[in-house]
Amino acid sequence: MNVLVLNCGSSSVRFQVIETDLERIAQDRDRCLARGYIERIGSLALVTLEATGRPKRIETYPLRDHRAALDQVLRWIVASDSGIDGIGALSDIQAVGHRVVHGGERFTRSVKIDAAVLDGIEDTIELAPLHNPANLKGILAARELLGPAVPQVAVFDTAFHATMPETAYLYALPYSLYRRHRLRRYGFHGTSHRYVSYRYRKLRKLTREKVNLITLHLGNGCSACAIKGGDSMNTSMGLTPLEGLVMGTRAGDIDAAIIPYLHQKEGLSVDEIDTLLNKESGLLGLSGLTNDMRELLDEEREKGDRRARLAVDIFCARARKYVGAYLAELGGADALAFAGGIGENSPAVRERITRGLEWMGLTLDPRRNAAMVGGKEGEISKAGSRLKAYVIPTNEELLIARDTVRTVLGAPAPARKARARAAK
Ligand code: ADP
Repeated sequence: MNVLVLNCGSSSVRFQVIETDLERIAQDRDRCLARGYIERIGSLALVTLEATGRPKRIETYPLRDHRAALDQVLRWIVASDSGIDGIGALSDIQAVGHRVVHGGERFTRSVKIDAAVLDGIEDTIELAPLHNPANLKGILAARELLGPAVPQVAVFDTAFHATMPETAYLYALPYSLYRRHRLRRYGFHGTSHRYVSYRYRKLRKLTREKVNLITLHLGNGCSACAIKGGDSMNTSMGLTPLEGLVMGTRAGDIDAAIIPYLHQKEGLSVDEIDTLLNKESGLLGLSGLTNDMRELLDEEREKGDRRARLAVDIFCARARKYVGAYLAELGGADALAFAGGIGENSPAVRERITRGLEWMGLTLDPRRNAAMVGGKEGEISKAGSRLKAYVIPTNEELLIARDTVRTVLGAPAPARKARARAAK
């Protein structure tokens, strides 16, 4: 089955075409046939397209909205000169899998999209006003352009975390706020944490119930996840992706009293404070230079920049704090797994996060750590480490394609016991 995987942002669309079916899933033989990225939708859009094994094409088109962007993508996919294996017409795309950011308490697993699901996604717009509307636009555009007969599946960023216990997902706020607004921790990056957890169990030949792991997804957005018995027990992002680790431009954890303080001292409005915390903080805010970890590491190394060093140190210290907290919460774990652009490519950051954890049984192997970059997967701890460390490149698109196939064929992945309850 050829699955079109769509990840629609407010002004961007990322896509992949993945060939997969139940047999390929069992044998790990899924194939990415093509991928691409459209940015600056709404003006002169930049379109990057790549059929596997062919050179990348970068073009510009005026694209008004998500429908126009998807139309452009589909035209390219079926064009004879794109060279995509096995695809010559729209009918060669048999299903569409969508990344949907927020599933609220309602969606605890991937679902086939029908009118009720569309309503449900619309209901969660309040919780993800920046993301869910774009995801909905993508779904409607795909239905219009491919026709209602092509099945579409929604895969939610929040779903993997539905197994968190109340002690992890409730804030210590008046309980009535949870009742009235479902104000709670949802967590994000769930598809990534789930994929990393799945690859870890394959690497170590474990059953899902035997997976006791802390995953660190460190990209532009960053989050940690505590996994026990294969289930998410806690995660660092909260009601929104703002909470938790230091990120490229997000502050992560702060004293909430800083918000009224900023309002009084700097005269900032609620919206301005929201922008400050989400777009002007984190690595960018601390360094005053950039949100890009690679550039910060270069500045630190080449120029000895004090604030670049400080930003990286605070980033690593926060991640280490979460590792410690989650080890205590889980009653221990067998391994840490690093993923995301930083986690997959920076031996220096991995070393700084795990520095001083030898007493806990974790010792990195410097040679293995240095070699594990650029998409390589494997162990980076010394042989015999009681707490092991792995680098596991994430692949959310693959998991979305697989969930799409399983859902369409009525063979979904085994259900996890969602712990969210409908509070009275
Ligand atoms: P997104 O969350 O947008 O998908 P990525 O997962 O691609 O982002 O991660 C982007 C981050 O990864 C950037 O901060 C970038 O600097 C960092 N990164 C990529 N390669 C390296 C590297 N070799 N060393 C350090 N950081 C890197």
